Amino acid sequence: MNCLADFSKLKIEKILKEEFSQPSYRAGQLYKNVTRFNSYDEMSDLPLSLRDKLKEKYFDRALDVEKYLVSTDGTVKYLYKLNDGNVIEGAFMTQSYGNTLCVSTQVGCRMGCAFCASGIGGLVRNLTAGEILSQVLCVNRLQGGTAEKRAVTNIVLMGSGEPLDNYDEVTEFLRLVSSPEGLNVSERNISLSTCGLVENVRRLADDGFTVTLTFSLHASNDDFRRSIMPIANRYTIKEIVDAAKYYFSKTGRRVIFEYTMIKGVNINHFDAKRLSELLKGFPCHVNLIPLNPVEEKNLQGCSGAEAERFLKKLHEFGLSASIRKSKGADVGGACGQLRRSYIGQGK
Ligand code: SF4
Repeated sequence: MNCLADFSKLKIEKILKEEFSQPSYRAGQLYKNVTRFNSYDEMSDLPLSLRDKLKEKYFDRALDVEKYLVSTDGTVKYLYKLNDGNVIEGAFMTQSYGNTLCVSTQVGCRMGCAFCASGIGGLVRNLTAGEILSQVLCVNRLQGGTAEKRAVTNIVLMGSGEPLDNYDEVTEFLRLVSSPEGLNVSERNISLSTCGLVENVRRLADDGFTVTLTFSLHASNDDFRRSIMPIANRYTIKEIVDAAKYYFSKTGRRVIFEYTMIKGVNINHFDAKRLSELLKGFPCHVNLIPLNPVEEKNLQGCSGAEAERFLKKLHEFGLSASIRKSKGADVGGACGQLRRSYIGQGK
């Protein structure tokens, strides 16, 4: 059964007219309620008889918060329960330029990256556009926001799942969340993180989307990338950089390369040199991320001094780079950790 958040206002108008014989002004009322993340019980501006009929065919909400943890740095980690009992997670982070919500696009993930807890156990299923949107609607409401004055100002598609492996639902989500009739979040305030599904990177540009693209690179050579990211068996780093260049040429949006620093593995002089050879002259940015340890894997993060040394090398080679501050580490800030511990407890 679909949830109401799966639909645009136009589609809701059509449903109300064709399935419930309702006048068009009801669509505006219902859509406003959906945007506020209201339950049927809270939709008091709609007749009870209509709400009862809607209940039989559509969920009012796609998810509920099952659990949340607040970090000492203010990050709130949410565990949501979907209507089919699956759980996904997200994180709300406050920053000087606004508040960012990290959303999930799949239950689990089939990409199997070695440093990520979301990939353990594989893909369970894709989320629908409404399930992705509902994470934003839900947290916006919990954090005291409205459609007019949003508490969630920025969105990153960086939770569990590979967004471009769920292309149709993710792009529908982008349409819904940026719609002026909904939350009206500009694509400039949305980042999409991909491990580099190059055909869909090109498709995203061709379909006219202009979100900020972030590529999970994490390696300066294909051999090492293959050892931590199975997707590297399908695409070389060069193919990914070429797709990034294509996206930039079509959208004018500067792309970001994410590089998780793994102790003793991918942060030496030659890694910095190879990265600079790959990216020199391309207006992009390298985001260095200290590895959040994942208990199930034997990979360690580097020290602050090692991270600074690697950053300095990249600067010396002429790359734009910075170290991303890890948020919410004390509450399982890394993607997939909260869900893993929840599933591990057999809940
Ligand atoms: S890093 Fe992203 S693509 Fe890789 S397993 Fe985790 S969620 Fe999937």
